[in-house]
Amino acid sequence: MIDTHAHLEMPQFDGDRDEVIKRTVESGISLIIDVGSDLKGSRTALELARRYDFIYASAGIHPHEVKEITTDTYKEIIKLITDPKVVAVGEIGLDYYKDYSPRDIQQREFINQIRIAKEFKKPVIVHSRDAREDTLKILKDEKVSEIGGIMHCFSGDEEMARRCMDMGFYISFAGPITYPNADKLRKVVKSIPTNRLLIETDCPYLAPQQMRGKRNEPAYVRHVAEKVAEVKGLTVEDIERVIRLNVHNLFGIGDVNEIGRVTYKIRNSLYLNITNRCTNECYFCARTTDPWVQGYNLRLEDEPLSEDILKEIGDPKRYDEIVFCGYGEPTLRLNVIEEVSKKVKEMGGKIRLNTNGHGNLINKRNILPELKGLVDTISVSIDAEDSEKYNKICHPVFKNGTYEAVKEFIMEAKKYISEVIATIVDVPEVDEEKCKEIAEKELGVKFRERRYNVVG
Ligand code: SF4
Repeated sequence: MIDTHAHLEMPQFDGDRDEVIKRTVESGISLIIDVGSDLKGSRTALELARRYDFIYASAGIHPHEVKEITTDTYKEIIKLITDPKVVAVGEIGLDYYKDYSPRDIQQREFINQIRIAKEFKKPVIVHSRDAREDTLKILKDEKVSEIGGIMHCFSGDEEMARRCMDMGFYISFAGPITYPNADKLRKVVKSIPTNRLLIETDCPYLAPQQMRGKRNEPAYVRHVAEKVAEVKGLTVEDIERVIRLNVHNLFGIGDVNEIGRVTYKIRNSLYLNITNRCTNECYFCARTTDPWVQGYNLRLEDEPLSEDILKEIGDPKRYDEIVFCGYGEPTLRLNVIEEVSKKVKEMGGKIRLNTNGHGNLINKRNILPELKGLVDTISVSIDAEDSEKYNKICHPVFKNGTYEAVKEFIMEAKKYISEVIATIVDVPEVDEEKCKEIAEKELGVKFRERRYNVVG
């Protein structure tokens, strides 16, 4: 578990800082980023980072404090951020809610600090309150996408989150998502792809609902993780894994498992990654560029054999279902699907096959009778409302006629598999309503839209 934004340097922890850190370790927190918000706090954050291996620091001046900045302040900040344990510039930004510093000075110093961050190639940790348009404008004008960063303790809407993500930002949520009246914010949490998501405490402030009214501390980040998991329909273990990867990608710190996975658990389903080959080249597909899904690396060194897959599965009844999915088209290895499914079914497991629907074109025969009794659910990507759009999005190797073949595959699947679902990915050019109508009325199957890389 990681707390990406704590203020252990603040005086609220002066009386028992070491005890809080001890409790943090005992509660399973493995990494903290302690965020400076003024010069003194940035120095103390670095001192903490030097004392504790698992603490990293950031240095910067909060918008409340920027009215105090002098040229000496920046000399010192630059000295601090060149330390290897200082991983970011922050907390910087704009706060028009409290307006403790005049707005023109806030803007000027936000820009100055972004420029320092860019010079030293460190991401930024941004505070933005009631200053949406000015924040976005400055981030865009200053080309912050070159270094990326975090929108900390995010309280904006989906559109703001999307515009920040377009600039390479991660969106970090804190205790407020656990508050009973925070439905709007939880909707934003749901919309964030897990590969752009972070969690934090912002302690000593904003204790989660369970601890409301008390001083917050890093150990309570677990409550934020639990709420995010609930909102996204994932487990806390899933959230921990994706946060670890995101922190590693942004700051280059912490450990991630780089080994390409054949089996990987999400929620209580076990996914099987049996090939990285595919007969589509969907423009949004990251299988060759960034093949990570929910914190797992899916780049295969070699395609696994059926017996190795079965060994990894063990007792399939431990899982809700075993899913052929991965980054590639499973029906390119039909024999593996059949061998593994047969054993899994014999052992009482359930099988789902996620496919692009090219199985009959790939294997040059109708494969669906062979899957009868082996596959419980088949999920087929139709990905568009017509052939022309399908070709533009998916670039199928079988060229023209593939879209019609996918629809025929779905019709044929209904004869042999009890649950058939047609899916699309929510890319902007696809007409979701038309696809739904094709699935439900023309093909007579269930329909599901998937947010790209969003689970839940
Ligand atoms: S069908 Fe799936 S694996 Fe194949 S290119 Fe499209 S998204 Fe990637």
